[in-house]
Amino acid sequence: LPGLYIVATPIGNLGDITVRAADILRRCDAVACEDTRVTGKLTKHLGISTKLIRYNDHSGERERVRLVESMHSQAIALVSDAGTPLISDPGYRLVRDARDAGVAVTTLPGACAAIAGLTLSGLPNDRFLFAGFIPNKDKARREAFLDVAQVDATLIFYETGPRLVKSLEALSELLPDRMVSVAREITKLHEECRSGPAARLADHYTDYPAKGEIVLMVAPPAELETSDDDVDLLLKDALKTDKA
Ligand code: SAM
Repeated sequence: LPGLYIVATPIGNLGDITVRAADILRRCDAVACEDTRVTGKLTKHLGISTKLIRYNDHSGERERVRLVESMHSQAIALVSDAGTPLISDPGYRLVRDARDAGVAVTTLPGACAAIAGLTLSGLPNDRFLFAGFIPNKDKARREAFLDVAQVDATLIFYETGPRLVKSLEALSELLPDRMVSVAREITKLHEECRSGPAARLADHYTDYPAKGEIVLMVAPPAELETSDDDVDLLLKDALKTDKA
């Protein structure tokens, strides 16, 4: 059926492609992707020969209008290099314009590094705040941390290997008492998750420089434990129908 299909792809292990994602990538008319070489590796692995077209939100208004128009008669899949499109990746403008144009939009959920990292971390997960990439300039980095430091939730950031120590050093200065988790290369050969105060992790990654892709997480200001019983109660409460 024509429309826009937002398709999550693996964040490392190609086995994490979903059955439905593989099916849509095979059957759609074209796959809009950030980098045809990156997505080409995935489609080749799956034995898929669907046409790949390059798209990102900076592609320009005219290109986006044309792509959205084609969705009235064609099935277009949107993927990013890895994980869930739109999450620190392009696609938001395309989805917005497709919806505005009355195109059928649907999503095929799958891997997302932020959620995968959170589940690995052992940090409280009843409330979390995804804050995207950490800026690379000292002042902006500090501001980014301070902006969200007092939010009562586990904080989730995206980071890369070469910048990790600087971020941990900033955290050790700004939030020395908070538990921090580093989830690295999730689903890949060298997957690792390490937790501790930021200063200790900064020392570790100074001695053993981290390579690859990283999710950096910070525990909430006060670690309020929500037990499974509490979750059950909250759920029951939320599902209660008001009988007036
Ligand atoms: N849209 C993607 C998603 O759903 O996870 C995220 C794209 S963002 C451009 C790339 C960042 O995601 C990396 O710098 C890293 O912070 C994180 N990331 C992606 N894959 C990862 C992995 N396998 N392990 C840890 N972090 C990962």
